[in-house]
Amino acid sequence: MSEDLLSTIPSAGWACWKCGQHEGHSLFCTSCHALQEPVSDYYSLLGIPKKLNLSQDELQARFYELSRHLHPDLFTRKPERERQYALEASSILNDAYRTLRDPVKRANYVLKQEGFDIGEQRSKDVPPELLEEVFELNMALEEMRGGDDSARPQLESARQNFTQMLADSDAQLQQLFEAYDAAPNRDSLSAIRAALNRRKYIQNLVGEVERALA
Ligand SMILES: [Zn+2]
Repeated sequence: MSEDLLSTIPSAGWACWKCGQHEGHSLFCTSCHALQEPVSDYYSLLGIPKKLNLSQDELQARFYELSRHLHPDLFTRKPERERQYALEASSILNDAYRTLRDPVKRANYVLKQEGFDIGEQRSKDVPPELLEEVFELNMALEEMRGGDDSARPQLESARQNFTQMLADSDAQLQQLFEAYDAAPNRDSLSAIRAALNRRKYIQNLVGEVERALA
């Protein structure tokens, strides 16, 4: 078993359910290697630092390594308690990987953990700097839906424009992630939430334009 899987998490009052050692909490006991009750926090379960900017390769390697060690075949002759922990840990691990490999889901996960409201209603507010473009877009969308195909070139150019904005949004998010990782604070998280709302708004626009053009 690799040292990584035995890295310890400080946790007062914890003791291994099997051998009773209480020097450090980790997914597998550092003394008897028995699987412990899994933590629900995605970062802690994966044993990675709580960063918004994650290396996809490292995350994937970590996921596969843990998956191998939690494979049900390894637990068939283990006590019932450990078999149950293995199932729970695998389920959390799969959710963790699905969430953390996606930058938007990852940021939403951290925002939620930090007590930010990530409700849907905010995505309906038009970002002020987009008001004019959105107004024109809606006119063109109405014409198109009304059967006026002359709006097509305008919609095609809008699609290009908003797709570029989406790419810019992703680049901006990346920068905000780096700033937050360097100095975690709530102002950075607020900026990230605003960027995510704007991104979502633009993504919805692109979807609407694509449906109208289809
Ligand atoms: Zn133990």
